[in-house]
Amino acid sequence: MFDLSKLIRPNIKTLKAYSSARDEFSGEAKVFLDANENSLGSPLLKWYNRYPDPHQHAVKVTLSKVKGIKPEHIFLGNGSDECIDLLFRSFCEPGIDNVIICPPTYGMYEVSANINDIELRRAPLLPDFQLNLAHIETLVDAQTKLIWICSPNNPTGNSINRADIETVLNNFNGLVVIDEAYINFAQQKSFVQELGEYPNLVVLQTFSKAWGLAALRLGMAFASIAIIEVLNKVKPPYNINQATQELALKALEEVGQVNDMIKLLVDMREALADVFESMPTVEKVYPSDANFILVKIKDARKIYEFLLTKGIVLRDRSSVLLCEDCLRITIGSEKENTILVDAMQDWFLQETI
Ligand SMILES: *Cc1c(COP(=O)(O)O)cnc(C)c1O
Repeated sequence: MFDLSKLIRPNIKTLKAYSSARDEFSGEAKVFLDANENSLGSPLLKWYNRYPDPHQHAVKVTLSKVKGIKPEHIFLGNGSDECIDLLFRSFCEPGIDNVIICPPTYGMYEVSANINDIELRRAPLLPDFQLNLAHIETLVDAQTKLIWICSPNNPTGNSINRADIETVLNNFNGLVVIDEAYINFAQQKSFVQELGEYPNLVVLQTFSKAWGLAALRLGMAFASIAIIEVLNKVKPPYNINQATQELALKALEEVGQVNDMIKLLVDMREALADVFESMPTVEKVYPSDANFILVKIKDARKIYEFLLTKGIVLRDRSSVLLCEDCLRITIGSEKENTILVDAMQDWFLQETI
């Protein structure tokens, strides 16, 4: 049986959260002299002298409408990376607990585990980049707190089979974190609508990819109210700054524009995949549900370096497990994609000379 209270670190369970000035008084008033702000203003906009809403109420209410999720089920982090770190800090006891990742996958799960001194157990994906459920099962013990599943996965681009994720959710008594950073580019449905079904589910999404707002640093975690309450207790009080909250609210009014960009990026992804597939030394273009493609190509490292001399930067994944000879290519603008394809033509020309 899943029991959240057994997962929370003892020091977090007894933790009394920091109470900010705005926590202690959050109504309307004529004169605010309770937070040691600069009452005269700031060199920038007038209201930047005040601390931001520690609970990001307005953003959550608007996001709630866009996502069809109640605000109480939403946590906002300074990028998904903060959500990742907070999950470790809230649920994993340093030197004692462990977590499972399925490489090749997003690098921050491992870095965050190391920072927090949490043992990392690896159940590599199968050659088709799907979960190795049998291997995961052998790694789980009483100290396993989190299983990280990235879907669509970075750097492979594929979605993880829904039935396999459900198997993990149904059989694991720790938290299953599904990182859906690329979900907007996928055919697959998000797991956010399944929160009522699985008390051990945490879904991560971000404003950094489809929303085009990587610079704002805004990540989302969706989970049960009980899990969200734990994250709220542990987070720094003002983790989402005022400018980010304002700009996120504005962006949330432009869902249509974002959907148009997603459609365009998906079309260009398919077009670019076709072009690469027709190139002479390309062994494989992996099917992608994300805004990048993974290409297996002879002399990947050399091509990476050749493109660098032309001012084009790809991600060289050729030394990553199961990604040997692979380059990860973000879908660019129409113009950028053309520059890349032209440079690839130059590479093949110089190779044949
Ligand atoms: C890019 C990415 C993120 C985004 O992290 P932010 O901190 O929100 O920018 C999260 N997970 C994966 C798998 C990613 O590739």
